[in-house]
Amino acid sequence: LLRVRGLQKAFDGTPVLRSVDLELRSGQVLALIGPSGSGKTTVLRCLNALERADGGVVDLDDVRVDLGADPTRAQLDALRDRSAMVFQHFHLFPHRTVLQNVTEGPLVVQRRPAAEVRAEALELLRRVGLDGRADAYPHEMSGGQQQRVAIVRALALRPQLLLFDEPTSALDPELVGDVLALMSELAREGWTMVVVTHELTFARDVADQVAFMDGGLVVEHGVPADVLGRPRQPRTQQFLRRLL
Ligand code: ATP
Repeated sequence: LLRVRGLQKAFDGTPVLRSVDLELRSGQVLALIGPSGSGKTTVLRCLNALERADGGVVDLDDVRVDLGADPTRAQLDALRDRSAMVFQHFHLFPHRTVLQNVTEGPLVVQRRPAAEVRAEALELLRRVGLDGRADAYPHEMSGGQQQRVAIVRALALRPQLLLFDEPTSALDPELVGDVLALMSELAREGWTMVVVTHELTFARDVADQVAFMDGGLVVEHGVPADVLGRPRQPRTQQFLRRLL
């Protein structure tokens, strides 16, 4: 479903992604791990076309975009349409209700019928135990609830690919479990997900693939038992040692 070749990005002349290669089959979960500043967030932002990469080819579903070759607006929109991002700090619209946050994209961007969008949104909120909060505003909810709304908002777009950027690292420890449980459930349902995370237990138990990034490169990539259990690269070994 997803193939990334030679993804490159520099900020003000400083390379942040040197040449990132990734591959993910439909229905699989990829955990992207690595030290702070290694470029994990930037990979997600380039995949979602929130950031313009300088080079690299992305195949996502039926679209191929050569990011080095001055992609058209339509090509970048095609990438954006097929993926949905869940951010570390939720990024909900503060002056809209939960329901409005969830229905905004499907209604305004995708122009789907209002009744259908609303029914689907309420059903998704019910699934995550928040249907009673449809008319609440984000600031009236806990961080864990807000992040579940943000996940529902991503699902409501019916994307091919879900991108999670450290979805639990802004949460109080006691709220992390609910969000990880929801993500595990989505993985079991067959959603294709790329998850930037420091939660190694989640990576070990839920991910099909783990990619370790350092210095703008994927240094090691494989199944969790190998990358986390028997890392071959010294940099991976060092990173994991520090976390244990
Ligand atoms: P973290 O775990 O801390 O989020 P990360 O692996 O996700 O780290 P990125 O956020 O992708 O790393 O950042 C990689 C590097 O790019 C960092 O050195 C960061 O300072 C730099 N960077 C990211 N975004 C920008 C930007 N918009 N302008 C300039 N530099 C940036």
